[in-house]
Parts: sequence; C-alpha cells; structure tokens
Amino acid sequence: MNKVPPFNLTRQYQTIAEEISAAVQDVLTSGCYIGGSLVERFEQQFAQYTGVSDSVACNSGTDALYLALRALQIGPGDEVITTPFTFIATAEVISVIGAKPVFVDIDAKTFNLDIAKLEAAITKQTKAIIPVHLFGQPVDMTTLMAIASEHKIAVIEDSAQAVGAEWAGQKVGSIGHIGCFSFYPTKNLGACGDGGAVTTNDPVLASRIRMLREHGMSRVRYRHEETGINSRLDALQAAILEIKLRYLDQWNNARSEIAAKYQELLQPLPGVVIPQEASGGRAVWNQYTIRLTKDGNDGYRDKVRDQLQQLGISSTVYYPLPLHLQPVYQDLGYQVGQLPIAEQACHEVLSLPMFPELSFEEQQQVVYGLKDCIS
Ligand SMILES: *Cc1c(COP(=O)(O)O)cnc(C)c1O
Repeated sequence: MNKVPPFNLTRQYQTIAEEISAAVQDVLTSGCYIGGSLVERFEQQFAQYTGVSDSVACNSGTDALYLALRALQIGPGDEVITTPFTFIATAEVISVIGAKPVFVDIDAKTFNLDIAKLEAAITKQTKAIIPVHLFGQPVDMTTLMAIASEHKIAVIEDSAQAVGAEWAGQKVGSIGHIGCFSFYPTKNLGACGDGGAVTTNDPVLASRIRMLREHGMSRVRYRHEETGINSRLDALQAAILEIKLRYLDQWNNARSEIAAKYQELLQPLPGVVIPQEASGGRAVWNQYTIRLTKDGNDGYRDKVRDQLQQLGISSTVYYPLPLHLQPVYQDLGYQVGQLPIAEQACHEVLSLPMFPELSFEEQQQVVYGLKDCIS
C-alpha cells in the first residue's frame, strides 16, 4: 500500500521547477544575493497581495513578530495577550523582548483565541494582543479590533499559517496594526529556506521595522539609531517567493477543495469532530485538524495516530502541550486546568494530511484508514 505523507514539498516544486531554476540562475549570475531590487519587488507584490501599504521582508516569521513588538516599543513591564494554543514562536518573542505573555483560553470550535474572554485579561500593562489565525482559520477581527481600540491596545496578527485567509473580505495581516508572516517551507507560501514578512498600513511603523531589521541603521550608512538585528531576506528566497506568490490563490483553492472533500467523507464518523470554516471568514487550511473525542480516555488520540501510522498514513499533533504549561513558562505560575479548552484540544487534536497536491485517492485512503482505526 502507498504511504500518505503529512505534506509533500517535492510535488509542488516539480510543478514549477523550470520557473524556479531560471529565477535562481538569474540571481546567481546577478551577484546580488542579499536585499536589493528583487527583495524590494517581492515586498511590493506581497504588500499588494495582502492589501497594505507596506511589507518588510525579513528572515523568518519569528523575526517578523520580534520586529513588530520592537517597532511598537513594547518591552519590560508590559503585558502582551496571546493564545496558549499556537507554535512557541508567538509567545517566545514576547519573552525575548522582556515583556510578559498573558494567555487567554481558546474557542473550542475554531481553536483561536476566545474573544469573549479577552477583556477580563486586559490590565493597565497590556500593550498588545497577538491573535493567531491558527491552521489558516481567521480570528473574528471585527470584534477583536473593537475591543483593542476601546482599550487603545495594539494588535499584531500572527498570520504565519494563514497567508491569503480573509476576515470580512479583508486579508489577514491587513486588519490589525501589524501583520506577521512566515515563509517556512510548509506554510501556504513557503520559501526554499527561512523567510518572513511584516505588513502594515502605517508608514512610520514600516520604516522603524526596516531600520530594526538592519542593525538599527538609519538611511545614512553606518549610522545606527537603535539596537537592531540582522534579519534580511535572501534575494534567492525573494525570487522563489515571487514566483510562488503567483500560484498562491490556486494552491489555497486546492486546499479548500480538499477540506470540503474531507468534510464530506468524514461527516458520519462518530467521535470525530471536523473543523468548520468560520462564517464571515475564509480559511486557507494550512492544517486540517480534527478532534478525536472519547470521554475519559486520555490516550485515545495517540492510539488512533499510531494505528494510522501502521497503515502508512502520517498525521501530526499540533500541539501536544499548551504554552502556559510548557517548562519554559513555569515561572508564570499557570496551573493545570486553568485554560481548560486549550488543554483539552492538546489531548484531542489530530492534523490529517493536507497539501494542495494531495490526490483524491490519498484522501480516501486517509478516511478509510481512520474509519478502520476508530472503534
Ligand atoms: C511558523 C510559525 C511561526 C514562526 O515562523 P518561522 O518562520 O518558523 O520563524 C510563528 N507563529 C506561528 C503560528 C507559526 O505557525
């Protein structure tokens, strides 16, 4: 029997191999490898795609979040609210700049920050909220922005998993004050290495981010205004991303079709909760994440996952441990049971194979396998 991988980057590469090779050759012969006009051109195209005035390319999604917090002058003594059910990078950058992450529980249906619990977590020290459009599902940005503006708090959208997703007809990353993107290879717009971008409609923030990205250097060469970092995007990655950006909508549409087929095929399975696209939004399905529920049976999800693996079907657990219970955050003093929805999700979630080139036969194999494993 054929194996079904969780994702397959080679298949996508093969569909555009000639274009990529030509672009890579051009960069190699140009002798211009870091920054330069190719990077600027990609920045403009990405800003246009996202629907913002400015996009600043950088070295990773993690750096994008770091640069966003620095640009907003957030630091020691400040609090930043975010979700405990995300990749560590979202909270890690809050700690790296010396601020305190404050975790708010998630909504059971969307896996995103529970907006209804947001206001109770806001204090005088709260300087920003970082909503994460997890798995490619947009957060309800209308309600979130209303709360943020009432309390005069900045909003940084962690859009790392959601490039192209929309809320109320607007692309994520263009609704908050700053948007952060990752071009890690498995994201919907993936480079052939690390990469990221910050988006904003505020030209002052954009120019601060540009400066911080390059050692805090002002327009005058070797004149440094602030402590910055080195977080430039390689010209090679910009050239590759420029090509891939042209296919992004097509690939996101393919993901939506695969999600719709999963929904159809998985519908009558008892104990399997399937994800729903939020009404008012458009998801881009970086992951297709189901819940396996069996009351009082804690190891159930892991058992199903092992059985699937024996059938040659790879699935993934994003994320097995919520951030508020991570060893690194012990000093924040959270207790088990304090953010119960996120904790339960960590026990129940399973992400099924999802990538634009996944075939219908493979999808069927996944679903039949799952049916076999569910007792
Ligand atoms: C991938 C990811 C990041 C970090 O991006 P990198 O490019 O890997 O640094 C941040 N937040 C979320 C939600 C992510 O999925």
